[in-house]
Amino acid sequence: MQQLLFELGLARTELGRTVYDERHLCHSPQERLFYEGEWVEGLLPPTDDLPLRQAQYRRFAMRVNQARRELGFAMPSRRARWTAAHAALDGQTMAQWLQAQQLDEAGLLWYLDYCCRDDYGAGLAEVSAWAGIQYFASRHGFHAPGDAEGERDAVLTWPEGNAWLTQRMAQGLSEQLFTGRSVLRVRESRHQVELLAWNETTQAPERWSASQLVLATPLFVAQRLLEAVPPALQAATQQISYAPWLVSNLSLKSALLDRPGVGPAWDSVTYGSPALGYVDARHQTLDPTPRPSLITHYWALPRQQRAALLSDDWTTWAQAVIAELAHTHADLPQQLQRIDLARWGHAMSIPTPGVRGSAALAALREQPQGRLHFAHSDVAGYSVFEEAYTQGAAVAARLAREVQSPRRKS
Ligand SMILES: Cc1cc2nc3c(=O)[nH]c(=O)nc-3n(C[C@H](O)[C@H](O)[C@H](O)COP(=O)(O)OP(=O)(O)OC[C@H]3O[C@@H](n4cnc5c(N)ncnc54)[C@H](O)[C@@H]3O)c2cc1C
Repeated sequence: MQQLLFELGLARTELGRTVYDERHLCHSPQERLFYEGEWVEGLLPPTDDLPLRQAQYRRFAMRVNQARRELGFAMPSRRARWTAAHAALDGQTMAQWLQAQQLDEAGLLWYLDYCCRDDYGAGLAEVSAWAGIQYFASRHGFHAPGDAEGERDAVLTWPEGNAWLTQRMAQGLSEQLFTGRSVLRVRESRHQVELLAWNETTQAPERWSASQLVLATPLFVAQRLLEAVPPALQAATQQISYAPWLVSNLSLKSALLDRPGVGPAWDSVTYGSPALGYVDARHQTLDPTPRPSLITHYWALPRQQRAALLSDDWTTWAQAVIAELAHTHADLPQQLQRIDLARWGHAMSIPTPGVRGSAALAALREQPQGRLHFAHSDVAGYSVFEEAYTQGAAVAARLAREVQSPRRKS
């Protein structure tokens, strides 16, 4: 990942330290939380006059530090060893673990639930304690307000999201890259892999063949594409469940009326809300030309709502998003010019108990299944760019080794 960031010009070394291109670092203010009638800085519920909350923040920070020190966590997760202690965390939900630690303060629980919904698409009652701790221990740790934090992790962000990265990764591959095809079927035969694809431009089927195939589609898609499903894939897809997401882009006539407290930030979240708040898509712009505002609202929905997300009329969901945002911006209905909804039925694999430690997923991560190599972030058990990229790079390295010294094929 670091190497990619350097190659893309996002990072450079200055006096022995890694420095990021400021245009792509998230501009200040980064995050704000709507809490008890006003916006406060950061996403952690404040501790004013709440000694119990401060004490539990400290205790949780200690637990995370202890886990980092004694067990080891890393991003990408494959860099950390997997021990019986990790497996024990993976065997329970984060809610169960917190209860066992007697960590039960409402503000702490809300914040941790929000973090899990934001990164994993599901809350404390669903994700494993391994995932809940990985969130902090593999990155910046957890810091109670007022405690020494050290240097904060850099946040890189783009209005177009990960598309900024994928477009640049695709540059220079024009001759080799064939997009706009939906793969319909994959068949592995003795000497090759055959693919049936639908060319979306010519509206005609195409046949492709290869000696090895990297499947970087979500695993539930891979399972449907393969004529013969390898047992590890069969087992893994039975273990994985996916979170549906609703992502809405709202074009506004002008900036929204704000409530008291901290001014507009990149990410604005409401305490107690079932949704994840909104990002100001123009926060990073350096162009001073006045333009209408554009915000992106994120909502990881409970799995039980997947069917309704598909079947309900779009206006029902638009109304739900508008009502959510109107809690903090009463003028939103009048300011709204256009709303675009993207319904993702299976947006992210949820790291429920047992998923990270799954032997089937480990097999898909680490070994080819015949001529098939699996490279989707699903094989990590959860969904972030770092995991997706690392798996892709690992599979590419495996294939490069294969080309240099091919295995004997009987
Ligand atoms: C709303 C949301 C916000 C997110 N925000 C972040 C974030 O801020 N930071 C972060 O690190 N991660 C974020 N993620 C997670 C991130 O998107 C994933 O980790 C990443 O996209 C995984 O990359 P991937 O290449 O493994 O898979 P994907 O991005 O899922 O790519 C799979 C590809 O396979 C293609 N495909 C599927 N079926 C077929 C077929 N039959 N034929 C041909 N092609 C097919 C799909 O079109 C897709 O392009 C977010 C996810 C969601 C849903």
